[in-house]
Amino acid sequence: MLARIKEFLGMETKPTEEIGAEEEVEKVAEEKPKPRIGYIHLSGCTGDGMSLTENYDILAELLTNMVDIVYGQTLVDLWEMPEMDIALVEGSCCLQDEHSLHELKEVREKAGLVVAFGSCAATGCFTRYSRGGQQAQPAHESFVPIADLVKVDLAIPGCPPSPEIIAKTVVAAINGDMDYLQPMMDLVGYTEACGCDLQLKVVNQALCIGCGTCAMSCQTRALSMTNGRPELNEDRCIKCGICYTQCPRSWWPEERIKQDLGL
Ligand code: SF4
Ligand code: SF4
Repeated sequence: MLARIKEFLGMETKPTEEIGAEEEVEKVAEEKPKPRIGYIHLSGCTGDGMSLTENYDILAELLTNMVDIVYGQTLVDLWEMPEMDIALVEGSCCLQDEHSLHELKEVREKAGLVVAFGSCAATGCFTRYSRGGQQAQPAHESFVPIADLVKVDLAIPGCPPSPEIIAKTVVAAINGDMDYLQPMMDLVGYTEACGCDLQLKVVNQALCIGCGTCAMSCQTRALSMTNGRPELNEDRCIKCGICYTQCPRSWWPEERIKQDLGL
């Protein structure tokens, strides 16, 4: 199904690592001292955009001297999507909504860097539970993370992400700070998130140190600590992926360690 939709729309299908997100970031940093940023709202709740605006102490400086916000349904009075250096895409994409599919394709064509902004865009988050059957669009039942449809360069999961990490990521992209951005690039491939990842990928791999960071980071209190190990209440998990990305033992992926060590 996804492959057919991507083929129909002529969407990019190559995995991110083949494309070179690092080069794209460096290009933005070198060529665009004041990057043009767009905010694209798909199937999201605007909470990620709200979190962006909660950078009270630096927001004026960011908007006045560091970036130009050139597009955004709730921010800029402009209908036609312009060329952008960085596009912050909030929300997952509904496969039954042709407008969203075309908008996502247009973002990919017009933005240098595409950022999955928030967990709905990055992992699907609670839209993973959509089943359709509701008015006024009962056929709208399938919602996927945007990296399932187009090449994504950076992912900032969070429901919503903190104001601080949004601001730091934008500033790092402006400055070409690859050390800061590398985890966000690695997270692009983490689209099928679940609280059960802690058990499978951390505890079962003998990596858990019982720090409790995962339980503290869960917004829905789906995680508790039992005998020094995380325990998941699946009924409460919204599949945002924050617990795993915050876990200090989830970094780095084995492939990345081997690559960095030349193994
Ligand atoms: S954050 Fe990671 S290391 Fe810490 S308790 Fe949770 S699973 Fe274990
Ligand atoms: S356990 Fe909590 S933090 Fe982890 S994916 Fe589920 S809702 Fe998100």
